[in-house]
Amino acid sequence: MEFVTLNTGAKMPLEGFGVFQVPDPKECEDSVYSAIKVGYRLIDTARIYGNEEAVGRDIQRVIDEGIVTRDEIFVTTKMWTSDYDDREAAVQASIDRLGLDYIDLMILHHSQPENDVQAYQAMEKAVGEGKLRSIGLSNYYEPKDFDRLVNATSIKPALLQNETHPYHQSKEMQSHIAQYGTVLESWFPLGGRGNTQTLFNAPTISAIAAAHGKTSAQVILRWHLQAGNIAIPGSSNPDHIQENCEIFDFELSADEMAQLTAIDKNECFADY
Ligand code: NAD
Repeated sequence: MEFVTLNTGAKMPLEGFGVFQVPDPKECEDSVYSAIKVGYRLIDTARIYGNEEAVGRDIQRVIDEGIVTRDEIFVTTKMWTSDYDDREAAVQASIDRLGLDYIDLMILHHSQPENDVQAYQAMEKAVGEGKLRSIGLSNYYEPKDFDRLVNATSIKPALLQNETHPYHQSKEMQSHIAQYGTVLESWFPLGGRGNTQTLFNAPTISAIAAAHGKTSAQVILRWHLQAGNIAIPGSSNPDHIQENCEIFDFELSADEMAQLTAIDKNECFADY
């Protein structure tokens, strides 16, 4: 696994495992367990996914089994927009549901100008109290919207998590946030459920995959890594979970990276 050092000094894995759309606790626990067993150390959940408890149980299980220690695991969760009014309770509720003493990274799930500054300030307070190690944002797509939040708060966001994949490469936001030491994290790194075949079968991607004897999913995930994005693919299929972390044994050439940059359409798959 490779790591990035966040602007808080925390070390964060460059690839993680996302648990969106896995509301079934057993399926969530099995997939997180498979992921940690094969080497993932970053788990991405959210209050709105309804599976923070399952993620927390699973983390306790892998610690109890001696597979990892708490400080080897990086846990991200997100504050949902309807909680921004009751923000301090929302931070504590996520900690309690996860059953952890602290959360490695908490991010606001969406921009919401009427009260996201106050919600972010509650996370800043929780950093001071040792409850959160790093804080950041998700779904801020305009530089001026990101700056609105940054200019009204004290701690620079460690990370911005936005929809990012070869058809929506987020280059403008990635370079804009770099001035704050903020890194980009890709959600829908493979295009998201229902859209993956569109990317997997894109001629540029499948040709590069064939040239390396890798799958299209692996080429896309390797592209995220080399483009400087943290990626958090999701899957409940153990074979895919394993396949997605076998991306550290090959490298895309500068020409291949340029070919992939050229297929950007600046188009999101999600409508939010
Ligand atoms: P993804 O791009 O990871 O795609 C998931 C789909 O790809 C699933 O259908 C899965 O079965 C399939 N897949 C995964 N690996 C595969 C492989 N090797 N071969 C074939 N198919 C494969 O999309 P996602 O899971 O929706 O997003 C990843 C994570 O991003 C989520 O789990 C969540 O943590 C986060 N997320 C955040 C937001 C946000 O608003 N901040 C929104 C969506 C997702």
